[in-house]
Amino acid sequence: MQRYFGEIFEGRAILCEDDVFHLIKVMRGRVATEIEVVSNGKVYLCHIEKMKPLIIRVQGEISEDRELKSDVILIMAPIKGDKTALVLQKATELGVREVVLLHTSRTVVNFNHRDLIDKLSRFRKILKEAAEQSQRIHIPTISYLDDIAKLASIRADHKLIAYEQQSGPTSGLNKILKSLKKQERIAIVIGPEGGFAPEEIEVAKSCQYIPVSLGHRILRAETASIYALCVIANALEN
Ligand code: SAH
Repeated sequence: MQRYFGEIFEGRAILCEDDVFHLIKVMRGRVATEIEVVSNGKVYLCHIEKMKPLIIRVQGEISEDRELKSDVILIMAPIKGDKTALVLQKATELGVREVVLLHTSRTVVNFNHRDLIDKLSRFRKILKEAAEQSQRIHIPTISYLDDIAKLASIRADHKLIAYEQQSGPTSGLNKILKSLKKQERIAIVIGPEGGFAPEEIEVAKSCQYIPVSLGHRILRAETASIYALCVIANALEN
């Protein structure tokens, strides 16, 4: 069943223009078509009551919760081409709660004042669509940090940084994941195509981030992000 994120007001579901277009033109919604609408972390079963003007009536609340029991924060350097968008989509399916794009010294993809807003709004659309597709009740947030020292501003109970020079056994990562408690927040930092400069790892350590290995091989940045999130989600859901 198609899911949308919207607002519930006086027993009716209110969707944004793009979603109304999708429901009526793409999904060919008609009177009695049922949809799920997520609002404020709750899922509602609704149906189209009237086409003109469009009235979507709430039938009742659906109790379900597919969210991870801990908040996972992916902090990643933006990477080239459509790979950042791919990682955002996969991270959403894997339950991530927050994404922070982090500019590092070897980041090749440079945002500037003009395109940062456009890029973030494009990324927010990708996060919303992936959250609808994977039946989430939260759309991951996305923000931008322009300096690795600002890692200090991230609130998390466990702070990890995947460091390629530390490639080897993943025992460090697994030990931390075993100690993870419900409701705790875990942040993981993934570098750009060129990796991290040693002095950046020192800055991260000064912000209480623990360098971890993601295994013996050197993964591409997009693989590293997806791998790390798979391991974390699996540890939280087993
Ligand atoms: N160009 C670099 C690799 C960068 S990989 C080199 O050849 O050394 C991009 C990012 O993925 C890294 O900054 C790191 O965050 C992560 N990564 C890749 N493989 C990893 C591994 N085996 N252990 C820890 N982090 C890894």
